[in-house]
Amino acid sequence: MSRWNKFDLVGLLFPRRCPVCHEVVEDPGELACDICRTRLVRVRDPFCGKCGKPLAAEEQEYCGDCMRKKHAYDRGRAAFVYEEWMRRSIAQYKYGGRREYAEFYAEEILLACAREMIRWKAEVLVPIPLHPSRQRKRGYNQAELLAAKLSKKRYFQVKTEQLKNRNFTKVLQMQHTTHS
Ligand SMILES: [Zn+2]
Ligand SMILES: [Zn+2]
Repeated sequence: MSRWNKFDLVGLLFPRRCPVCHEVVEDPGELACDICRTRLVRVRDPFCGKCGKPLAAEEQEYCGDCMRKKHAYDRGRAAFVYEEWMRRSIAQYKYGGRREYAEFYAEEILLACAREMIRWKAEVLVPIPLHPSRQRKRGYNQAELLAAKLSKKRYFQVKTEQLKNRNFTKVLQMQHTTHS
């Protein structure tokens, strides 16, 4: 027993699961199965200069949506296309208690966007707060977990109070309708 540390025990009791197939990952040092890493569709060039969605043609700057309407943000970027594997992964992360998936998402977000984050001189991460009743029910805020993982890997500061203290009710309502 003396040779064991608490992380071994945590690994034994709660073995890490793959964020794609949701089975226990064979190699405990890996965040996902090799085959599953190939299942997810990564966003590559060309992508929309506003929202980050993949574009069909290189010569387009913005997608059809962004040509038509304004967004409340300056730039959006995504690591993956939101197709079936990703949809199920996020659902398990948010509603299935699979907090460990945050580690994999953080790694992939940095692979996809670290260069831009450096160019933007991003210093602070502000995760969108969850409605208190939802957070109580879920036990965690998935955006806060992800921000914490990202900050650990890249030393961003995470600020969770900013949005909570202001009157962003409308924005939050919109976010919750579409994403929570
Ligand atoms: Zn897998
Ligand atoms: Zn767009």
